[in-house]
Amino acid sequence: MYPSRFNYEAPRSLAEAIALLHDGGDYAKVLAGGQSLVPLMKLRFASPDLIVDINNVPGLDYHRADPDGTLRIGALCRHAELERSDLLKSTQPTMAAAAPLIADPIVRTRGTLVGSLCHADPQGDWASVVTALGGSVVAQGPAGRRTIPLAAFVTGPFENVLEPDEIAVEAVIPAAQGTRSGGYLKLERRVGDFATVGVAVAVETKGETVTRAGIGLTGVGGSTIAATEAAQALTGQPLTAESIGRAADLAAAAARPRTDHRGSADYKRHMVRTFVVRILSRGAVEERAA
Ligand SMILES: Cc1cc2nc3c(=O)[nH]c(=O)nc-3n(C[C@H](O)[C@H](O)[C@H](O)COP(=O)(O)OP(=O)(O)OC[C@H]3O[C@@H](n4cnc5c(N)ncnc54)[C@H](O)[C@@H]3O)c2cc1C
Repeated sequence: MYPSRFNYEAPRSLAEAIALLHDGGDYAKVLAGGQSLVPLMKLRFASPDLIVDINNVPGLDYHRADPDGTLRIGALCRHAELERSDLLKSTQPTMAAAAPLIADPIVRTRGTLVGSLCHADPQGDWASVVTALGGSVVAQGPAGRRTIPLAAFVTGPFENVLEPDEIAVEAVIPAAQGTRSGGYLKLERRVGDFATVGVAVAVETKGETVTRAGIGLTGVGGSTIAATEAAQALTGQPLTAESIGRAADLAAAAARPRTDHRGSADYKRHMVRTFVVRILSRGAVEERAA
């Protein structure tokens, strides 16, 4: 199907893009990688009056670490760049594990992490990863910039708190306060598919003690789920088979899966538990080996 008629603008600065959104009428949309928006428009689930294509806006295609280790990912940083990133491989195990599992190579060439967060698909992998890492989104509009924790940014399936004239300019991952470990595991029907179940785990340790933990769940609820109690069950003590098992049980209890053609609710909950144990047990083994 063809999309409905729309006006198209390709501004060359952030200020121009924001002004276009501000004056853009009732229904203007930002276009980044187009990997979610364009299919929705072709299916006519979305029919914006105006598309503001930000691909010509300079200075948004970065991912870099501040001197203190804070990671910043610009709005035009593609999934593929993150997949190839040595910075992620050396400092962000959860992100490095997720990057090759997003969609397929063609989608990864165009799609962006920030676009994925804005799209707020319950099956979007990055939202769980950024949730586990305690990340945020920086939005810029006519009134300036504001930083929004991801937990407050996503308000429901395909919903975020951006004002119509705001652009998400970057995602921010806080610096680790200890040694970072973790991973992302995804159950998919075939390579390149959306997650039937995805689990992101990020752990920081000082010595043997877990000082911070985060667990994000993909595809097992109406929105990305932060398994907060599960993460809390890990903190303040070393990783042990007992603490891992308890966290896995709590993560499975936090999941809200529905039975569908991809599997029963019980099966998906079981997979959440299995993935938490698998990621954390591997972390424990690697740490002991170090
Ligand atoms: C075949 C296929 C398979 C896929 N499989 C997966 C998968 O397995 N896992 C997964 O996580 N994703 C998957 N995706 C989605 C893909 O990751 C998208 O790239 C991503 O969801 C959206 O990023 P984008 O840059 O393409 O955003 P766009 O499609 O350009 O935009 C998506 C939405 O976010 C808004 N938006 C985008 N950027 C901004 C911004 N900077 N500021 C404000 N609003 C913004 C747009 O207005 C739109 O509403 C798949 C897509 C396809 C086509």
